[in-house]
Amino acid sequence: MQTFIDKDLCIGCGVCADSCPEVFRMTDDDHAEVYGTTTEENSDLVREAVENCPTDAITTE
Ligand code: SF4
Repeated sequence: MQTFIDKDLCIGCGVCADSCPEVFRMTDDDHAEVYGTTTEENSDLVREAVENCPTDAITTE
C-alpha cells in the first residue's frame, strides 16, 4: 500500500503524525508529509489517520 498527502488540502493539524509517527511527520512549513513506508504492521494506524484527517488530505492505493 502506498500513502499520499495532498499538501493543498493539509491544514497541519498533526492528527496523522500523532496516529502513525512511523509514516507521517510534520514539516517546517506546518504540513504533513509521508516519509515512512506503509507496512502490514502499521497499515491499521495509517487507515486510522486517513479516517481521522479532517480535510481528507490522505489517500492510499
Ligand atoms: Fe494534514 Fe490531514 Fe495530517 Fe492533519 S491529519 S496534518 S490535515 S494530512
